[in-house]
Amino acid sequence: MSSASLHVINGVRVGANAPRGSFSNVDPATGEVLCEVPLGGVDAVDAAVEAAAAAYPAWSQTPVGERCQVLFEYKQVLERNFDDLTDMIVQEHGKNVPEARGDVRRGIDCIEYACGAPSLLMGRTLPRIAVSSSFSREREENIPLDSTMERVPLGVCAGITPFNFPIMVPMWMWPMAVACGNTFVLKPSEKVPLCAIREVELAHEAGLPAGVLNVVVGGADVANRLITHTDVKAVSFVGSTPVARQVYAEATAAGKRAQCMGGAKNCMIIMPDANREAAIDGVLGSAFGNTGQRCLAGSIAIPVGDAADWFVPAIVEAARGIKTSAGTEADCGMGPLIDAGSGLRVTSAIAAGVEEGADLLLDGREATMPEGDCFVGPTVFDGVTPGMSLAETEIFGPVLSIMRRDTLDDAIEITRRSPFGNMAVMFTASGYAANRFRTEAGAGMIGINVGVPAPMAVFPFSGWKDSFFGTLHANGEDAVRFFTECRILVSRWF
Ligand code: NAD
Repeated sequence: MSSASLHVINGVRVGANAPRGSFSNVDPATGEVLCEVPLGGVDAVDAAVEAAAAAYPAWSQTPVGERCQVLFEYKQVLERNFDDLTDMIVQEHGKNVPEARGDVRRGIDCIEYACGAPSLLMGRTLPRIAVSSSFSREREENIPLDSTMERVPLGVCAGITPFNFPIMVPMWMWPMAVACGNTFVLKPSEKVPLCAIREVELAHEAGLPAGVLNVVVGGADVANRLITHTDVKAVSFVGSTPVARQVYAEATAAGKRAQCMGGAKNCMIIMPDANREAAIDGVLGSAFGNTGQRCLAGSIAIPVGDAADWFVPAIVEAARGIKTSAGTEADCGMGPLIDAGSGLRVTSAIAAGVEEGADLLLDGREATMPEGDCFVGPTVFDGVTPGMSLAETEIFGPVLSIMRRDTLDDAIEITRRSPFGNMAVMFTASGYAANRFRTEAGAGMIGINVGVPAPMAVFPFSGWKDSFFGTLHANGEDAVRFFTECRILVSRWF
């Protein structure tokens, strides 16, 4: 596939200017170039926003039940294409098959939730909120005023998405946006554009009218044009914290509403009374699932007191047992990282950890795995202390840092002092410990005996602190509020 046909504007593939060259999108397992993504094609942004603006009047006036019929049909289309989408993710992103299936399934959850828009969009009425008196004193009046709140769409909305969930994260945004009557322009990660393009083409197959949902591909300059475009009313962003912070500042300065999900550095506390099997399994899946490339990845394990005696040897042994291979292999436990740059970032983080004096118990650079810059095996450090780069920086790779602590208070303090607040997890049999953790950990998504406390589509994805910039989160009722404006009607009749 060439770079000539990667934008989807008005329901068709459109050629692209690439004044700043192109980005090679590769299969990270094989190095095969899948497409060249044009860079700097900001004129495509203008065309896509124009198409979305032109589609808005008719789409916003389409009854919500009819809009949702398209999404009901889209769900069926996605189910029929489930295996193909899974294969695309495995190839373009590098996930293993179960993780790729999870990416599609959790995306479909968002469609199912958005199908509830007729109920979710309902307004409220309070009759006889007041009784009117006459302006002219001569007339006696006692006429009731009724008040109603309606939810109405905003206009053209924009979404900018990261590489790590190529199907699901775009579905955190556009399905609810269009269910609410908005039109949309999506700028997917240049590292996984083909999955997003397929996702959008299938929506057209399901009957979404041309122009309601458009895709522009490219990098930061394309994103920035979209964020600041005069006709864009709202910006949804998911990606790393520095970019999330910048996008939030730019979008809000340009007068848009914005929800910007950022990076993370997530802690998992293991209490001595924890169910051992569940704790090992939960920490393993959290730290190494999706090759550590999850904003809900557990990055720091904090065994409390005696827990370290059983937890540390067991987690090293379990991590050693994970097979690192191409995602296409049936027993693949961990696929490659997204690209060579990520491979270098992760191996550099491991080298820095050694340099700073942490104890390298399992070295992912030495794992049995395919050749290639994208492969790094499971890595476990012990003796990590606050201030080390392993303790402070989001690695976004398969590196678990163990920080032993003597008491529950000391363990909670580690989670609380983090500038990030995406998630925190505790494994325990104690309701007291769990309750203290829940209220004191300082994170928006809490797992108790759960390694990856993903809220699914029905609740907001509730990162706090430097993991989120904005007020209304993605998904759940927050999404309905984000993608609509309140209109208040006060009326009286004579
Ligand atoms: P990234 O920040 O590099 O890129 C995300 C998107 O922003 C891409 O589409 C990219 O093209 C665009 N972009 C990059 N630089 C930009 C700039 N200067 N201005 C405007 N747009 C720009 O993130 P990534 O590497 O694709 O994804 C990994 C990150 O995403 C991790 O930090 C992870 O924690 C985070 N993430 C967060 C959540 C969440 O819900 N909090 C979910 C998934 C991923």
